[in-house]
Amino acid sequence: MTAAPATLRRPLIAGNWKMNGLKADGLALARDIATRLEGMASRRFDMLVCPPFTLLDAVCAAVDGAPLLLGAQDCHADAKGAHTGDVAAPMLAELGCSHVIVGHSERRTNHGESDATVRAKAAAAQGAGMTAVICIGETEGQRDAGETAAVVRRQLAGSLPAGSSATNTVIAYEPVWAIGTGRTPTPEEAQAIHALIRAELSKPLGAAGSAATRILYGGSMNPKNAAVLLALPDVDGGLIGGASLKAADFLAIGECCR
Ligand code: PEP
Repeated sequence: MTAAPATLRRPLIAGNWKMNGLKADGLALARDIATRLEGMASRRFDMLVCPPFTLLDAVCAAVDGAPLLLGAQDCHADAKGAHTGDVAAPMLAELGCSHVIVGHSERRTNHGESDATVRAKAAAAQGAGMTAVICIGETEGQRDAGETAAVVRRQLAGSLPAGSSATNTVIAYEPVWAIGTGRTPTPEEAQAIHALIRAELSKPLGAAGSAATRILYGGSMNPKNAAVLLALPDVDGGLIGGASLKAADFLAIGECCR
């Protein structure tokens, strides 16, 4: 599919802190990121941090007024009820979250989340006025078996709620074998899958909706490999784990956006 004009999809650089950060460290990291962002004369990207639930309120207050978006790493599909230990999407919106990651491979694997579960969570995030960052991606075994395209198609179709749009949805393509391993797809492989995802998105969203939807790459993105990945025509930013825990590295990735 033809790449959209650069202005149509402003890159999003998103940090997934996972289960890292006690209060002092987490607040220091958030403040460091916000200060560096504010010090940039101009920037070609939006920046999002997704701390653990325990830090959301404090991070929101600590970076108040900074051009930094706040997101959560998960939500429950229901708006309230008897779900011990879970957190509902409206609770996250009330805290100041604009985004919620759903369907991360660690949740699909560690918590047995199916595409249907991910779809329900994404719908809950969207219904609470937030943007769902829907993660999809193949395992190493599926890659080796030549199933990447089929897996990505299936996960996308199964995880995308009705009512999704370019404004309430971001797709994150995260090959599971690349997460935290230091390995990445070749630029050709990454572009091919991103283009496939965009083509698939045009079925539910239409051509214009698909062309306007951000598709992030995730999996061992760092300041050294980011420029090549972020320059690919259908890569509209990154979902970053390890390298988002160091403000200098995280911002350096953002500065790779052209
Ligand atoms: C992730 O878990 O979403 C991720 C991309 O992690 P990392 O950047 O550490 O590979």
